[in-house]
Amino acid sequence: MRYSGWKVFTEGLRGNRGWKALWRDPAPKAEYDAVIIGGGGHGLSTAYYLAKNHGMTNIAVLEKGYLGGGNVGRNTTIVRANYFLPGNSEFYSHSLKLWEGLERELNYNVMHSQRGLINLFHSDGQRDAFVRRGNAMVNQGDDAVLLDREGVREMLPYLDFEQTRFPIYGGLLHARGGTARHDAVAWGYARGADSRGVDLIQNCEVTGIETDNGRVRGVQTTRGVIRAKKVAIITAGRSGQVAAMAGLRLPVESHILQAFVTEGLKPVIDHVISFGMGHFYISQSDKGGLVFGGDLDFYASYAQRGNLPMAEHVMEAGMTLMPMIGRAKVLRSWGGIMDMTPDGSPVIDKTPVEGLFIDCGWNYGGFKAVPASGWCMAHLMATGESHDFAKRFRLNRFLTGDLLDEEGTGSQHNLH
Ligand SMILES: Cc1cc2nc3c(=O)[nH]c(=O)nc-3n(C[C@H](O)[C@H](O)[C@H](O)COP(=O)(O)OP(=O)(O)OC[C@H]3O[C@@H](n4cnc5c(N)ncnc54)[C@H](O)[C@@H]3O)c2cc1C
Repeated sequence: MRYSGWKVFTEGLRGNRGWKALWRDPAPKAEYDAVIIGGGGHGLSTAYYLAKNHGMTNIAVLEKGYLGGGNVGRNTTIVRANYFLPGNSEFYSHSLKLWEGLERELNYNVMHSQRGLINLFHSDGQRDAFVRRGNAMVNQGDDAVLLDREGVREMLPYLDFEQTRFPIYGGLLHARGGTARHDAVAWGYARGADSRGVDLIQNCEVTGIETDNGRVRGVQTTRGVIRAKKVAIITAGRSGQVAAMAGLRLPVESHILQAFVTEGLKPVIDHVISFGMGHFYISQSDKGGLVFGGDLDFYASYAQRGNLPMAEHVMEAGMTLMPMIGRAKVLRSWGGIMDMTPDGSPVIDKTPVEGLFIDCGWNYGGFKAVPASGWCMAHLMATGESHDFAKRFRLNRFLTGDLLDEEGTGSQHNLH
């Protein structure tokens, strides 16, 4: 079924009885050419591009809960391509280009809104760092504009420009950055994959990975054994646990990241804004809620909720930057499980087990990567070769020391 304004109009006249479920609910088959563990954004986009770009359709996505119930539906929806290091820059640049055509590609409204991202800076040193980053972005072919204090004031007059502790020196504007509706992205890719014949199997937890002589044979699940010559682990915060089923120990720690949303308000914040001196960033959803967050809770956990010290820190930082936020009522908060790598960059690679692939380590920035990650992971699974855009995302870089430390936080990114 194709979605269009005309379809909405005609369905309105017919009492909306013609809409169909977005995907089928198939029973798992005994064998597939490939099985993807994890029905989050990355698992679903991988399935979609395997089918679309490589003609592989005898594949299943196995999701232990419901599609989009993990981090893909829990993030703060920011989409950007403002990376600095070669290896990251071209990957996220490609991802943003895919985002820009995603609604047409999927025939699905993912509410991609390029409202502009402004990273504030508060010292000469920070300005220098952002100038370098902006130059790297422009060299990559993306956009960046350095704003001075007055430039920021013009765009964000509600920030506190009078406080002296963290004076606002300026900001780096990335005009093509913005937001998208997170769960719609999962639904759009799910619908696209299903329509190409991929089986999306929910309530199907993988409990074991079967190997034989160093080769993957399939998976054990709560709905029986499923054979496959290719298996991909794409389980974000649970990657360490799932990889352990194949005897692998990943350089990944799982940490909690929280987010918060206020009651719905009239439009007040047009951009995505990040504070350079405290853990706080914010945007306003199309429903009107102010959506904001900060940093990790700084302890490893598999709980999908956070704790009060970080909640307090985020509120304080928000009040420091824009005191007006104190008038809004927080409606709810939640947490997701982040797969943190030592250098803060992801992994898209083969594993030492033949036929077993892994896509993980997205830390707290994997939502914007969903299109390019699926694109590159599908390429790897179909051809056996790393895609050029993902060739630095190797698993063995933690052995060789060829790290990709984008934020310069050293070898323990989860403690920065
Ligand atoms: C609060 C918060 C804010 C964030 N903000 C941003 C942001 O603004 N921008 C950005 O780019 N990124 C952001 N992120 C990060 C981003 O959401 C994640 O990096 C990304 O969603 C992870 O990939 P995924 O979508 O595939 O993960 P998930 O949606 O978590 O998918 C993994 C899936 O695997 C399934 N699974 C796990 N174990 C098994 C098993 N044994 N068997 C079967 N299935 C299994 C899970 O149920 C889950 O559905 C944020 C994250 C959080 C929590």
